[in-house]
Amino acid sequence: MATQRITDFLATRRPDGPCLILDLDVVEENYRAFEKALPDSRIFYAVKANPAPEILRLLSSMGSNFDCASVSEIEMAMNAGATADRISFGNTIKKERDIARAHDLGIGLFAVDSAEEVEKVARAAPGAKVFCRVLTDGEGAEWPLSRKFGCVPQMAVDVLVYAHQLGLDAHGVSFHVGSQQTDLSAWDRALADAHRVFASLAKQGIHLKMVNMGGGFPTRYLRDVPEAQAYGQAIFGALRKHFGNRIPETIIEPGRGMVGNAGVIKAEVVLVSKKADNDNVRWVYLDIGKFGGLAETMDEAIRYPIVTARDGDEKEPCVLAGPTCDSADVLYEKAPYPLPITLTIGDEVLIEGTGAYTTTYASVAFNGFEPLRSYVI
Ligand SMILES: *Cc1c(COP(=O)(O)O)cnc(C)c1O
Repeated sequence: MATQRITDFLATRRPDGPCLILDLDVVEENYRAFEKALPDSRIFYAVKANPAPEILRLLSSMGSNFDCASVSEIEMAMNAGATADRISFGNTIKKERDIARAHDLGIGLFAVDSAEEVEKVARAAPGAKVFCRVLTDGEGAEWPLSRKFGCVPQMAVDVLVYAHQLGLDAHGVSFHVGSQQTDLSAWDRALADAHRVFASLAKQGIHLKMVNMGGGFPTRYLRDVPEAQAYGQAIFGALRKHFGNRIPETIIEPGRGMVGNAGVIKAEVVLVSKKADNDNVRWVYLDIGKFGGLAETMDEAIRYPIVTARDGDEKEPCVLAGPTCDSADVLYEKAPYPLPITLTIGDEVLIEGTGAYTTTYASVAFNGFEPLRSYVI
């Protein structure tokens, strides 16, 4: 939702072209809500969600840690004031020379999900802490991250034993229940797997210390989502259930849940037209689309709330598309989007909940359109 500060910014600055306006006060509130919901977990902000320096500086000043996927993200976090002990290299797919760079920068915590990756870390960052990512089914998530990352729990046991044998510190287990996860029991299933890995390794004399419970915390789009407090209770309950009174150190890595609702994209209607005189579905083309930052509309996965000045008028489902010359640049067609029938060329629209996964997904200059501009206020 556009906060008063965002509304005032748009009214006074009147920026031209599509742009994201992000209110830091909302990020601050989100950080505090996570702290309150899971007081015993360290927060590692997933930098990829929105790496704007102002956001990183704010979170760093509040004590946040950072989950980074590349050397460049590590440098961004450090430039924002985070020391190496507050940064993890959380990508399971890393070049060995990038692991060495990170090690030189002082990073000592790395994600792995295969024996091959363990070998790279053992060579390039000897003695470092590693955690092994286990697969999750991604059920209940609107943007699942399953399959590509993680291994089955049985393999995680072997990977961590191997890490131990190669002189690394087998530190723990991680998982990600899928992004925009609205099923509170998803963490319960993943924590059951994590506990099985802990138990198997303990039998071999290796005592893991940490569970990285990943991201997945949702942003409100068109439907209400549970509050951070509800997630906190469900997760704490699952930790108790599986680990009893031997609850390990825990980490959470919110990305979307930290910044999604802090941003609003201002866009403009470029064309409203039909494909035939007797066609009853209108096509609405905006000056932003899949290549301008709305990549998460892929497969119509994320459905953003769209607000116009004419929302009091009657609405009709429309096909919503972007401005580029690629026919893939259609946002919503399988499920057409209800928009006011009075909506017309030149109207401004606000696309809400766009603080995460937009600016960095914008193409550099497809069709000459500049990347999505962002104003952090
Ligand atoms: C992307 C990512 C996150 C953030 O996920 P959200 O669903 O945006 O909270 C956290 N951890 C890892 C390892 C990731 O890749």
